[in-house]
Amino acid sequence: MSAGGSTVTTTTEVIPGVVGVEIILSEQSTAEVKQWRCIGCGTKDPKLAYKSGGIPRCYICQGYKNMEINSGQKAKKLAALARSVEFTLEEFHAWAASNPRVCTYCEITDEELWLLDLKTANGKRNEALGIDRIKSDLYSLDNIAWCCYPCNRAKGNYLSSEEMRIIAPALKSIWQSRLAGVARA
Ligand SMILES: [Zn+2]
Ligand SMILES: [Zn+2]
Repeated sequence: MSAGGSTVTTTTEVIPGVVGVEIILSEQSTAEVKQWRCIGCGTKDPKLAYKSGGIPRCYICQGYKNMEINSGQKAKKLAALARSVEFTLEEFHAWAASNPRVCTYCEITDEELWLLDLKTANGKRNEALGIDRIKSDLYSLDNIAWCCYPCNRAKGNYLSSEEMRIIAPALKSIWQSRLAGVARA
């Protein structure tokens, strides 16, 4: 700027409005090689970072966001939101810290899910465990469990948690033989 007086080449760096998001995403992409950091909780734990990239939150923070979206309250105000997800992000982090990240049914881990290379309905590679609502539609701390995408889809609205546990061992054995194949490949 000081040399020619023209600022044309620098105008793209200043975008009013959603500039905060733009800056965070670009910092994320340029800095990801040296250090990733969740924009939700600030964790730098690489075990909680999406391998697929492009998601600036950790598995826990993004999982919370997904619950908000699934509860159909995303566009509503915070007061309404609080009723559908009955705990805060901080409480969810505390819950996550005392509940190991393993699918409550087939016992798969995030890492194994990634290795299986399963695609979700929108074509994305599945990696982070989601949340199952065990007994009711309620997102409350005594009604949630880690659950993989395939188990969540299999259970759907059709099987109870108890019924799902009947078929879970079969799924577990399928994953184990696939993972053994991945390890050999
Ligand atoms: Zn986070
Ligand atoms: Zn599972």
